[in-house]
Amino acid sequence: MNNQPPNESIKTPAEAQIFSSDNVDAKVRQYITQLRFKFLTPIIITLSFAVLLIIIIVYFHEYRTINSGVLELKSTTNNLFQNSIQQDAKALQTVMDVLKTDSKLSAALAKHDRLSLLQRSIPIYENINRHYGITHFYFTDAERVNLLRVHKPEKYGDTINRQTTLTAQQGGTDAYGIELGPLGTLTLRYVQPWYEEKTRKLLGFVELGMEVDQTIDSIRNLFGLDIFVLINKKYLDQKGWESGMRTFGKVSDWNRFPQIVVSMHGKQFLPEVLSAFIMEMDFNKQYRAIKSHFIVGNQYAIIQILPDVSGRPVGALVMLVDTSGNMKQVKKTVLIGSGVLVIAAAILIIFFYWFVGRIAKRMAQNEFKLHQMATHDGLTDLYNRRQFDLELKESIGRYTRYHRPVSLLMIDIDHFKQVNDTYGHPAGDAILRELGNRLTAQARVADHVYRYGGEEFTILLPEIDSTAASMFAQRLCERMSSEQWDIGNGLQISLTVSIGIASCPEHADKPQALVTAADAALYAAKQAGRNRVYNYNMIDEEVDTPL
Ligand code: GH3
Ligand code: MG
Ligand code: MG
Repeated sequence: MNNQPPNESIKTPAEAQIFSSDNVDAKVRQYITQLRFKFLTPIIITLSFAVLLIIIIVYFHEYRTINSGVLELKSTTNNLFQNSIQQDAKALQTVMDVLKTDSKLSAALAKHDRLSLLQRSIPIYENINRHYGITHFYFTDAERVNLLRVHKPEKYGDTINRQTTLTAQQGGTDAYGIELGPLGTLTLRYVQPWYEEKTRKLLGFVELGMEVDQTIDSIRNLFGLDIFVLINKKYLDQKGWESGMRTFGKVSDWNRFPQIVVSMHGKQFLPEVLSAFIMEMDFNKQYRAIKSHFIVGNQYAIIQILPDVSGRPVGALVMLVDTSGNMKQVKKTVLIGSGVLVIAAAILIIFFYWFVGRIAKRMAQNEFKLHQMATHDGLTDLYNRRQFDLELKESIGRYTRYHRPVSLLMIDIDHFKQVNDTYGHPAGDAILRELGNRLTAQARVADHVYRYGGEEFTILLPEIDSTAASMFAQRLCERMSSEQWDIGNGLQISLTVSIGIASCPEHADKPQALVTAADAALYAAKQAGRNRVYNYNMIDEEVDTPL
């Protein structure tokens, strides 16, 4: 065996494809990895999207719930405010109706008797102030000239031009509504014209009033909200307002906002975010067009325009609802929910990872078995005839392309029929298996041994020319004949083989022709008496046409 090249260079492409037992584990692992990737990628993508979608849906659902809660609060506070004003107006009317039955008061009003009016009304005022929070109590003559402010007796003689009084005068009936005072205070006023009982002559007007901030306070306490009262500067006199604020010891910052001032009734120090919004707002729009709520981070601002008795939007209530607590809760819920979802998804993925791995392993093993069955012979575990044909074609192909020589040995057991006949078929099988092992043991890694059929074997010797092949065959032949062969039951026999050799390109350069040549050489060896090697050279002269 000279000119024997290193093994790597003589690996055939078919060999590389072969699912040999050496690389089966690596192949299975690679197969598992590929299958896992194919299966798990879409699963992971789908699950991630699903989890993300669920999280987003839950988050927005919760967010909307909070929003609608705030909007509900808006209508609740609005209704509450309107109802409270109505209730207060009713209370004022009731007090007024009781006052009207006091004939001494009527008489004093008729006479424009300030002193009697004052004496008679002071205890009444103390009483209604304590019980109903009434802070304003006026008597005005028929021409709207003020006779007495019971709550402030030193100021009188001015003409009252407020809308409620004008309405009461024009309509001749009770009038009430919210009015803006010069100090920026919002007062609910109730004005009633009083008539002389018999003559129905107008005596004058009685007015009761209470501060709206009581109502605001009750909303504030009920809902725990921060409430700011804004007054539209358009309806205020700057000097009057500033002096009023000073009187009450409040900070007066007329120029802080373009359109409004912050009333002393609510909280005075607006948070910065709210200020920015209010700065932008146009309070002089039709008041239905004024934005009624907006969101600043986790703070919801609800704006309620306060129309006065003439319907002018003189002020606005701004309520701040802090939803950060709710949002924190939502975030916590979403976080826990997503945690659970992610864990569930991870469990599912792990399950699929394991499951796909199991399936892939089984599939790979089956593929290996199938491959083994398709390429190997069941009895000897050598490559089969099918594989031989394939590899022979490749070997010849390698010659055609790269001019690499290849030799073919065809081996046939001599008188094998006798072995079967004498010792039985199982003994024959044992011999066939053992011959397969021994031939393989003698061959190089690159030399593949095939069971060609029955008791015939072939060996393909890549890179080996005719001479080297003959030497190798000779050695094989001698070795087989010199060894003992177990046939079971402790029995051993001797046997011989005949070998025919043909080489490419010396004898043939086509697969079928090479087989025919080797077969012819084998036939010649048999003819010559068996237990010998015949190279195709040796029968050249006997063959008419070259193969
Ligand atoms: P020779 O080759 O020397 O001319 O004689 P031979 O007896 O070997 O002749 P032949 O090729 O005609 O016989 C082949 C025998 O091999 C026939 C068959 O019984 C036997 N044989 C073929 N395949 C198997 C097998 O798988 N198992 C066993 N036990 N015997 C087989
Ligand atoms: Mg034979
Ligand atoms: Mg035979």
